Amino acid sequence: MTYDSIVIGAGLAGLVAGAKLAREGKKVLVLDQHTIPGGYSTSFTVKNYTIDVGLQSMDGLYERDPKIPIFEDLDVFYNVEFVHIKTGYYRFTNSREDFSLPDKREDAIDVLIRQFPKEEKAIRDFFETIETITTHTHKIPRTKALQAMIGPLVPILYSSIPKWGRRNAGEMLDMFFDNEDLKLVLAGTLLYYSDDPYKLSAIIFALALSSHFKGGNHYIKGGSMKLSGHLANFIRENNGTILLGQKVTKIIVDKGKAVGVEYVSKKDLTATPISVYGSFIIANASAPQVAFKLLSEEDGKKLRDKIKGMTIGHSTTNVYLGFNKSLQELGHSDFATVVNDPSVFTLKDVFSNHYGDYTKRNYMFIDYGQIDSGMAPFGKSTGIISFIDNIESWEDIDDEQYEQKKRDIVEIFVNRLNELIPGAKDFIEYKGIANPRTKMRYTLNPAGTSIGFAQTLSQAGMKRMKSKSPIENLHFASAWTFPGGGFSSTIWAGWQAAAEILNKMKD
Ligand SMILES: Cc1cc2nc3c(=O)[nH]c(=O)nc-3n(C[C@H](O)[C@H](O)[C@H](O)COP(=O)(O)OP(=O)(O)OC[C@H]3O[C@@H](n4cnc5c(N)ncnc54)[C@H](O)[C@@H]3O)c2cc1C
Repeated sequence: MTYDSIVIGAGLAGLVAGAKLAREGKKVLVLDQHTIPGGYSTSFTVKNYTIDVGLQSMDGLYERDPKIPIFEDLDVFYNVEFVHIKTGYYRFTNSREDFSLPDKREDAIDVLIRQFPKEEKAIRDFFETIETITTHTHKIPRTKALQAMIGPLVPILYSSIPKWGRRNAGEMLDMFFDNEDLKLVLAGTLLYYSDDPYKLSAIIFALALSSHFKGGNHYIKGGSMKLSGHLANFIRENNGTILLGQKVTKIIVDKGKAVGVEYVSKKDLTATPISVYGSFIIANASAPQVAFKLLSEEDGKKLRDKIKGMTIGHSTTNVYLGFNKSLQELGHSDFATVVNDPSVFTLKDVFSNHYGDYTKRNYMFIDYGQIDSGMAPFGKSTGIISFIDNIESWEDIDDEQYEQKKRDIVEIFVNRLNELIPGAKDFIEYKGIANPRTKMRYTLNPAGTSIGFAQTLSQAGMKRMKSKSPIENLHFASAWTFPGGGFSSTIWAGWQAAAEILNKMKD
């Protein structure tokens, strides 16, 4: 059987691309090496606690959010419930500051001015600037006919904000503010996008912040698997096929064109691969995997040259917790808490902190029990601690050391959480951990990153790899390509790849 499109990977971008193509009547095959779809957009249940692997909050969902027409087109709003996180954006705490930042722009400005009155003008100017950047990048037509042009439009608009296109987030914050604590507060959730404020593109930083303040924070009731599960069902209902537990081992290229893939069951990787053919191939799998493993030496040369020297994004370690009570009983009232170690005085201290002593490492705690998240039985709750980590610190150790390290890290962060929320430790009924090595094993993303190539100035925005690859009919749709990592970006990437392919199919 020949397909119109074969998608390698059922991560979010792969599922969105597959769903859109199936919706338009194209014959779609999605292959994933894991036994469940979603990639990082997955949740799992253990001891009645549902743990989200890759969603803590979703930005946007404001009127002109580019995700809205995508969700409408793919029936997402009928099938997936988005819960507004009413506790606000996040609580920030270090030894010097401790307050909650609302997720509404005007409220956030008021709170920040109250905390940092000397910076009033700078705060207002900063919010004005991030709003302007978002308005420039999000001028997307809402009509169906023009939606197909989403991809080509965005890079043009990126170039209309050159001043910030040449700056990193650290420089941007330094240009606006004098107070280092204020900069640290605003960089509170930066760990989602980068390990270094002085490398992260200012535009990516501004877009992320502004999107949260425009639409507020949302969570998918029941966990991110609800979204992935819906998209997978949508593909099947539209006559698409999803094969799980099947690892793609090769992209078949004929006379410079991608024409199919070879795959093999994960249960027996030594079996003879099965060949399947399609007019277009979409790689949701990482760009380095495509370049170095799925394409032959000769076919992959251009792609390898293109990505040579590019930096891979950071990874995180997560400590998963199931509490047999709600933490509200202990007076805890925030969904997200950003905990900075007191030794981090300036933005310049942030990068080294991320790779320093675990007992001092900045972390974020998400308490899913603060909202109607559907992640635990009534009266119980789940929580996740996240901090930046690198795969190197989990490699080159034997199995026993690895298991011991996991136990030690859980212990360190449970104790640190207990300092933040006294008594929380006594409520813990389930503890788990996922480190960069775990993430690499489950998603095959190099170094266990979830953001693809680092969103540095030379790798973000216009400069990021696009859906189109150097091989004809091979497209990318993942965090590795434009616009980058995160739910909003990968949903957009999947949509763009589908739109480009649909346009080509018309020719
Ligand atoms: C702890 C954590 C918290 C996060 N929190 C948020 C958040 O709050 N908000 C937000 O917006 N984003 C968040 N993210 C980021 C977000 O989850 C990811 O950026 C996004 O889900 C990546 O999607 P993707 O389409 O690139 O695919 P991936 O999730 O990387 O999936 C790729 C898929 O391809 C499959 N695959 C790879 N190679 C092959 C092969 N050879 N054959 C077959 N299948 C293959 C893999 O099995 C996988 O299913 C978080 C991530 C993590 C890890």
